[in-house]
Amino acid sequence: MDRRNFVRSSTLATGGALLACTATPSLAHNTVKTPFDVPVTYIPIVGSDEMFPVRRIYCIGRNYAAHSREMGSDPTREPPFFFQKPTDAIQHVPAGTVADHPYPSLTKNYHYEAELVAVLGKGGRNIPVEKALDLVYGYTLGLDMTRRDLQRALGDEKKPWEIGKSFDHSAPIGAVHKLAQTGHFKQGAIWLKVNGQTKQSADLKDMIWSVAEQIAKLSEAFELMPGDIIYSGTPENVGPVVRGDVIEMHIDGLPNLSIKIV
Ligand code: MN
Repeated sequence: MDRRNFVRSSTLATGGALLACTATPSLAHNTVKTPFDVPVTYIPIVGSDEMFPVRRIYCIGRNYAAHSREMGSDPTREPPFFFQKPTDAIQHVPAGTVADHPYPSLTKNYHYEAELVAVLGKGGRNIPVEKALDLVYGYTLGLDMTRRDLQRALGDEKKPWEIGKSFDHSAPIGAVHKLAQTGHFKQGAIWLKVNGQTKQSADLKDMIWSVAEQIAKLSEAFELMPGDIIYSGTPENVGPVVRGDVIEMHIDGLPNLSIKIV
């Protein structure tokens, strides 16, 4: 398959209000016959006519000490842990827009989590921390939207928290900025406002596990591949939103990301 043509033809097919970058790829250059098309998820790359293809979404839990404490953990004793969201949970939100975001079913306590997202252009296993940043293609910012009541209830019952974290539209995200455009993110303000009022406000340097350490740790458990993206955890003061609320999040060096809960 000609990858370039595959991506271009898919780009033409993008559309729809919610999942603007979940495109149905053209099969024109694909020799595999299938009974139906399955969407592939792409995120636009700033300053490029190419799209970033998303293979897996990894998320790290409790990666800021104060957030870890508010979730009931002792951050000094816990190694990092990870979970995944499905790639079609992505809702790309173009910079300068406020995307409608559906309040999900089954929850009465729907939470925001503002996070830096690293996107990988290379992969590997057992990557040493000193080499880990070589895998990074670029960065963006995203929201790890969470059905907090379900996450907590399932955790209390020692059941997987899948439907608390890994549901449709649960990963609003900005466009990818190439590394050359931003450099690595090791410090800088990260904040989130709801209806103009500051809710989360912290610094990326307060992450317990750096992006490099996250990549190294993840690569012990999984073979990382190009197209994998990593939500790097949220600071303290997560909280609920209801229909009509507007969330705006910021990371120094990236355009803000905004959604309206509908
Ligand atoms: Mn999170």
